[in-house]
Amino acid sequence: MPTHSISGNRGLQIEEQLIFEQDNPGQTGVDYPDIPQAKNRLGGLDREGEIGLPGLSEPQVVRHYMRLSQKNYAIDSGVYPLGSCTMKHNPRLNEKMARLPGLADLHPLQPMQTTQGAMELMSSCANWLCTLTNMPVVAMSPAAGAHGELCGLMAVRAALEDQGYARTKVLVPESAHGTNPASAHLCGYSVESIPAKENGRVNLDVLKEKLDGEVACFMLTNPNTCGLFENEILDIAKAVHDAGAYFYCDGANFNAIVGVVRPGDLGIDCMHINLHKTFSTPHGGGGPGSGPVVFSEALAPYVPVPYVVQEGDTYRLVEDEASAEGKPFGRMKSFHGQFGVFVRALSYMMSLGSDGLRQVARDAVLNANYLAVKLEGSLSRSYEGVCMHEVLFDDRFLKDTGVTTLDFAKALLDEGVHPMTMYFPLVVHGALLMEPTETESKQSLDQFIEMVLGLTERAKGDNARYFEQAPRMTPRRRLDETAAARKPVLKWVPPTEEA
Ligand SMILES: *Cc1c(COP(=O)(O)O)cnc(C)c1O
Repeated sequence: MPTHSISGNRGLQIEEQLIFEQDNPGQTGVDYPDIPQAKNRLGGLDREGEIGLPGLSEPQVVRHYMRLSQKNYAIDSGVYPLGSCTMKHNPRLNEKMARLPGLADLHPLQPMQTTQGAMELMSSCANWLCTLTNMPVVAMSPAAGAHGELCGLMAVRAALEDQGYARTKVLVPESAHGTNPASAHLCGYSVESIPAKENGRVNLDVLKEKLDGEVACFMLTNPNTCGLFENEILDIAKAVHDAGAYFYCDGANFNAIVGVVRPGDLGIDCMHINLHKTFSTPHGGGGPGSGPVVFSEALAPYVPVPYVVQEGDTYRLVEDEASAEGKPFGRMKSFHGQFGVFVRALSYMMSLGSDGLRQVARDAVLNANYLAVKLEGSLSRSYEGVCMHEVLFDDRFLKDTGVTTLDFAKALLDEGVHPMTMYFPLVVHGALLMEPTETESKQSLDQFIEMVLGLTERAKGDNARYFEQAPRMTPRRRLDETAAARKPVLKWVPPTEEA
């Protein structure tokens, strides 16, 4: 029975039935005329039974999907301080550009003389990224940050193989995003972790000890995932290069420094850029992302195909390794990468300009520091002083309250906002990582601060039960996230020989 078809906003709080459960047998949204000849046209392929679609009118279907869409939380509906993810506003101008028919209707196999504009656009986007990073070349095709990491590491491996030995290890700081060790492993390297110092930065002494002839690459996130600038980065680069290794930078946090610091000036050999983070293309719903990788001169020869080259007034796509200059290690992706994301990113860069992008970084850093200063009296900040684009707290402020980081985040859901990142990075206990981005106004930051302070008060006032039961107001109540509940549901059975 379609219980919610008239419930409007109240429908947001109660469970939405599956559209099949709302079935009204016999009802239909459209009336097709009987076409007697249809039978003949199908050449005897007659329908043998009911196809089992639910019976609903058009308004019922529209309401169902509208209600479902309203149960989603999005940057378009409220504050989204999910640290490390750079959930920023996606200007609608970008969407308008990406929907221009000349861009949206392109086919990747069209002849090159008909896609000159698209290649010019890819080339402009690439030039912006090279200029902002002061790096000579960029591989546009990787489909996300993690894919970019793999791309960078494959170039490192190709370069080392060219020198005679690919080496066996990649070093990664312990605060790194999980994709860093995963990418290194996928690229055939073993991974060793570098500890952080008291001040949250890489321990250079330990790094130097570990940099032996087996290390292919050191991967560093800068600013790092504690929201701190790695202020010894020039010495780090020198130590890495002295050991004959390459220096990878995880550029996911580029939003903190775009237009202010150029990674190419820091001795970095390759860095991925998450266009869906720094350059505002939509993400959070599963993509598509885009993770172009910029490369230094040392790695430039190994950049994968395809890439666009300009010859006089025309553009050409270099698609196969044989016709490429240098020694591309191969190809990361079918076709040319996430073209629609390039359009949005370029639209963002061009509409802001270099001065606007610098302002983005400054405002993002200012906003994070505003949160830091307003909250550090009540929450426990992991590292003192000025932070970059995100501020890290740990769970010391919840000591003896019976409330955990998880409970705290769940209670924020009831306040109607998306919680911060929890339990990441792993270097502090019960992390709460907040990244407001430049999107938030002072008013919305103040509201968020008030909410967090209110909850902090409540947590300190012997209210563990309130937190344990949160969230109460969401379409789904708290899921059982205990280890016992995390049993695998499906078991993968490898195919047998005969199959
Ligand atoms: C988001 C992120 C990544 C991974 O990027 P994806 O585009 O999600 O694959 C890697 N490192 C850091 C620090 C990140 O925040």
